[in-house]
Amino acid sequence: MANYTQSIQNLMNELARLPGIGMRSAERIAFHLLKQNPEDALKLSDAIRDVKTRIKHCSTCYNLTEQDPCGICSDASRDQGLVCVVEQPKDLLSLEAAGLYRGVYHVLLGRISPLEDMEPGDLTIEPLMERLASGAIREVIMGTNPNIEGDGTALYIQSMIAGRFPNVQLTRLARGLPAGSNIEYANKNILADAISGRQKM
Ligand SMILES: [Zn+2]
Repeated sequence: MANYTQSIQNLMNELARLPGIGMRSAERIAFHLLKQNPEDALKLSDAIRDVKTRIKHCSTCYNLTEQDPCGICSDASRDQGLVCVVEQPKDLLSLEAAGLYRGVYHVLLGRISPLEDMEPGDLTIEPLMERLASGAIREVIMGTNPNIEGDGTALYIQSMIAGRFPNVQLTRLARGLPAGSNIEYANKNILADAISGRQKM
C-alpha cells in the first residue's frame, strides 16, 4: 500500500478505531470525506463535537441529556415516586418508545459483570440509594435485562433496597421478555406488557 499523507493516515487510524470499522472501510470513508466539499465533511466533526460537549448524564437518573435534570426527571406530569431501573440509556429509550410508562428512571450505566470487570461500585447504585433515602420513591421496578448478569444485578440491588428501605415496593418487568434477551431489541408490545404486568420480587 502506498503511503498516505500523515493527515489522511491519521483520519483512517481514527476511523478504524470505531466499532465494526476495519482498515478497508476506514480507507473508503476517508476518501469519501476527501471528495466531499468542506462544508459537508465538517458536519461530521461538528456533530461529534456537539455530542461530546453538550451531552451529559442527568445528575438524578443518569440518562443522557443536554439539560440537567433531564426532561423526564423535570416532567411534573410523570410519577416521580415510581422508578424503573435500567442498565443503559438505550434501554430507557426502548421503554419510552413503548409509550406506556409514566414513571421515571434510574440508569445504572452497566451491570454487574465479573467477566467485564464491572463491580457494584462501577454502577450508579449508590446514587439510587440516595434517591431512595429522600423518601419520595414508593416503588422500584427492576428493568435490567433478563439474562444472567441482568438478573444478578437486579438481585443485588433488590437485597440492598430491601435491607435499607423496607417500605419501598420492589417489582420487576413481567417475563413476556424472552429469557436471555435484551430490552434494547424487544418490540414495543412486549415491553408495554412487561411494564403493565410487572411482578413483585
Ligand atoms: Zn433524569
